[in-house]
Amino acid sequence: MSDFAGLVAIVTGGASGIGLATAKLLHSRGARVAALDLKPDGLPDGIVGIEADVTDDARVAAAVDAVVERFGRLDVVVNNAGIGAIGDVAANDDDEWMRVLDVNVVGMVRVARHALPHLRRSPAAAIVNTCSVVAWAGVEQRVLYSASKGAVYALTLAMAADHVREGIRVNCVAPGSADTPWIARSLRHTEDPAAARAALDAFQPTGRLVSADEVAGAIAYLASPLSGGTVGTVLAVDNGMHGL
Ligand code: NAD
Repeated sequence: MSDFAGLVAIVTGGASGIGLATAKLLHSRGARVAALDLKPDGLPDGIVGIEADVTDDARVAAAVDAVVERFGRLDVVVNNAGIGAIGDVAANDDDEWMRVLDVNVVGMVRVARHALPHLRRSPAAAIVNTCSVVAWAGVEQRVLYSASKGAVYALTLAMAADHVREGIRVNCVAPGSADTPWIARSLRHTEDPAAARAALDAFQPTGRLVSADEVAGAIAYLASPLSGGTVGTVLAVDNGMHGL
């Protein structure tokens, strides 16, 4: 099945984890895919790497232009680049709050802003933002990260309302704990990473984390015409742990 035949997609954070799995899946289903990332090295054949930081508006604009120049159109934006933050409200200063919100929230706004004129010309335009179940679950020591993902959720609903009449569908996915390099990095800071990983797996009703490919599947569904009537929704990919 080639759900994306003839379509062009940008995946931010497309060089690792969920973004890389999404770029590969969209490409395997017929899309021409550009992975926008800080260091888009080691991408599989057929996926075009574009080096850009989503906090740099001029670079984002140039990246979108480069994709349209190369492929002649833009149909799908997967706003997936994101960074984490640990701690309660006392843990991070204003600069850190602004840094994380700049990547996780305003980064999505920048990509969407520059993509919109091209998406308006697509008969199959879709934006999928990567949210997280922490947007509503109230997880300890994740106040900044959770606030950023809460903003992504609200951003998704508001963008969906703004652009649905232009033929652009906006939705988001909310992974629980997904097995990506991100998780491996965060476990490295624990006393016993192997035990922490085993505990995290055991915490899941399925006994294992969701995979990057499973999150990519949800993103691909929301990005494809198969979900044509679906607008302004969040699709959780969290082993059924919606509230954690
Ligand atoms: P990851 O660290 O494997 O990949 C993130 C990618 O984003 C990296 O390639 C990184 O270089 C890129 N990136 C970071 N800052 C960037 C910037 N300023 N500009 C451009 N690219 C940038 O992480 P992942 O687990 O695949 O996470 C992807 C998304 O999924 C993030 O938005 C994250 O918040 C979200 N998420 C992850 C989990 C999880 O458990 N892994 C759970 C819920 C949500």
